[in-house]
Amino acid sequence: MTQIAPGGTIGILGGGQLGRMLALAAANFGYRCHIFCPDKGSPAFQVATDVTVADYEDEEALEAFARSVDVATYEFENVPAVTAELVARDTLLRPGVRALKITQDRLLEKEFLNASGVKTAPYVAFQSADELKAAIKEIGRPAVAKTRRFGYDGKGQVMVKSRSDIDRVLEVTGGQPAILEGFVTFDREVSVVVARSASGDVAAFPVGENVHTNHILDTTTVPAKISDMVEARAKVKATRVANALEYVGVMAVEMFVHDGSGEIVVNEIAPRVHNSGHWTIEGAETSQFEQHIRAICDLPLGATDARGSILMKNLLGEEILEFEPYLEDPKAHFHHYGKQDPRPGRKMGHVTWVNGNE
Ligand code: AMP
Repeated sequence: MTQIAPGGTIGILGGGQLGRMLALAAANFGYRCHIFCPDKGSPAFQVATDVTVADYEDEEALEAFARSVDVATYEFENVPAVTAELVARDTLLRPGVRALKITQDRLLEKEFLNASGVKTAPYVAFQSADELKAAIKEIGRPAVAKTRRFGYDGKGQVMVKSRSDIDRVLEVTGGQPAILEGFVTFDREVSVVVARSASGDVAAFPVGENVHTNHILDTTTVPAKISDMVEARAKVKATRVANALEYVGVMAVEMFVHDGSGEIVVNEIAPRVHNSGHWTIEGAETSQFEQHIRAICDLPLGATDARGSILMKNLLGEEILEFEPYLEDPKAHFHHYGKQDPRPGRKMGHVTWVNGNE
């Protein structure tokens, strides 16, 4: 396997806060980062060595980008597959194109998980009104309809409780390919952030427990309130997914947990560093961002142990303007992503407490 030694150059497709925190971690190891993003105000540009502002369809710019780096990675899963293929022609792309293609389509992802022996909610694909009706018959109600692509933070999703929801589903899916999922009864949502290096070593972080508000992650708590057995099984599942994908890098596997039965149902995979892993920056021996850099550069993976009990809270929209209490709190680790416009619901920063009072 090709190792990229510290001092090399890493390319990142996508310039959001995840790219920013990856570039900061890479800099600690002497790597230079070249960020490719169509948006010239990207938060990651503020901390990068080189930037390219161009569309993901701009072949010339992609080629020049790929040739300027030793390894390329991505920080969001909606990088078009053709873009990833173009980059992979001229440099190492980690994670690879296959992981991207599978995880950016909910149907392919569910098929892959079930084929790998990882349980998901029951699902049926649909597109037309007739197919939706047949899907409801098969899955039953309540159910959740989701577009196959471009869904995040609850976008492109509708609950199906009664027949009268059918019109609303078709309105939201708008004739795009979609899936209908059975509704899972669960007590808590957790995620496992796991890394697999180019050499095939795997290391999972402790399981994080996630609370969403309006479909957007609000807090992650570690340790999750689950038994040691469920914790171990959740990590085994995430490891199995990473190995089956022959994945290289950090990924997050989101799961539903039923306390009584201990059953774990995998909801979705994010082929990238993840919001529910931000706690690792101060709360784990190695941060998820450093771990991703280690994995894609084929360095030894770092230790994943938590440094205590952790709370990570997202700061959305104008919450970022009320930062004084966090600066005055000696146990709070405050992060600002450098974004200018605090639109409602926009992820502007986060705070982490390690063995704090909150
Ligand atoms: P997703 O975009 O797939 O992460 O879904 C967003 C949120 O909707 C999840 O975090 C769950 O809280 C809820 N959800 C999604 N799918 C299901 C399901 N099949 N059963 C119950 N709740 C779900």
